[in-house]
Amino acid sequence: MTARTLPIALDEQTITDAVAMYTHLHAHPELSAQEHETAAYIERALDDLRIEHFRCGGTGVVGLLRNGDGPVIGFRADTDGLPIAEQTGLPYASTATGTLPDGEVAPVMHGCGHDTHITAALTAARMLSTHREVWHGTVVLIFQPGEETAYGAKAMVADGLWDRAPRPDVVFAQHVMPAPGGSVIVRPGPMATLADSWRITVHGRQAHGSEPERSIDPIVLGAAMVLRLQTIVSRELSPRTPAVVTVGTFHAGLKENIIPDRAQFTVNVRTPDEDSRSRVLAAIRRIIAGEAAASGAPEPVVEELNSFPRLVNDDALTERLTTVFAGVFGADHVDARALGMGSEDAGWLWDAIGVPGVFWGFGAFDPALFDDGAAPAGNHSPQFAPDARMAVTTGTTAALAAILEVAGTGAAR
Ligand code: ZN
Ligand code: ZN
Repeated sequence: MTARTLPIALDEQTITDAVAMYTHLHAHPELSAQEHETAAYIERALDDLRIEHFRCGGTGVVGLLRNGDGPVIGFRADTDGLPIAEQTGLPYASTATGTLPDGEVAPVMHGCGHDTHITAALTAARMLSTHREVWHGTVVLIFQPGEETAYGAKAMVADGLWDRAPRPDVVFAQHVMPAPGGSVIVRPGPMATLADSWRITVHGRQAHGSEPERSIDPIVLGAAMVLRLQTIVSRELSPRTPAVVTVGTFHAGLKENIIPDRAQFTVNVRTPDEDSRSRVLAAIRRIIAGEAAASGAPEPVVEELNSFPRLVNDDALTERLTTVFAGVFGADHVDARALGMGSEDAGWLWDAIGVPGVFWGFGAFDPALFDDGAAPAGNHSPQFAPDARMAVTTGTTAALAAILEVAGTGAAR
């Protein structure tokens, strides 16, 4: 193991302030694309650090931390919460509510830990702005809204992110994971799956429950579609291709003796690459059209709800960061495991302009929680409860390590 350490270390005051920032953000989550208070909070924090900033992609905020000539690094922190009723029992647990796009009022929680990302990015920015001798260049701090709905990265790029901020040499993003504090998870190549969500409306013909011969039953038809969709992964893809087709909602009918006129369901698809993605999506269209035709029903209506792009880590840059992380956290605290079938839109921030990027996970939980193969509640669970101090120290340290690897001057304090 190389005995490399950071030229700047987190002091107790900075950690205390970061924990206070984290607990405030945790208690005040907002839903995707509605991060108005969060954006205002970030803008005030950037003002305090005298970092210039601009709005981008609605509730997105971009800070430009300039320190002379040198590399330009994009660093992303996503900012949205989730419609989850928090059950952590923490003193700073959220009691917030928000309004979903369909008008329903829902409880809101930072159930994916994006509050740790905001805090780590702002705390790293504070360290870099007070220790300007150890680095040079520009850090583009990207506070991205709407990650959970695959909205934010595309919205910021479409709103001219890379025309308004200096074009980066590299882009980084990090995500808190159910892993021990003081550890990171990173690997070259794909870090997450492509993901697509569709809503499908099946139109039948309404009739009395006693007169099925006068109906086209959208429930029977929709049920046949749901079952046949499950043959795509098992019969149309190679067993070596990891893919998921999940029907997560199915709604139809109001009363047991009325055959309704429609059924509606949503399907979520996860695939490892563009080729398998287009095969699965084409198969879904073919199956729903074919089943509708078999029932004598009109062609169902397909609406795209969201689409997560690929997330691929640059090989050479990942190798450099793996070495740096091993020096800072210890080689046995750098994990190269695959991350499962999750999805993330950060990759769009670098794919959109063709520059290298790296996305890594960081741990934020008491290592004792992992004894004997146990694990704490994971992201999106109502019990997801990172340790505040471990979250802010691990997240900030990982951010500083990556930024200084590219922009460090070699100066030590
Ligand atoms: Zn999430
Ligand atoms: Zn997340």
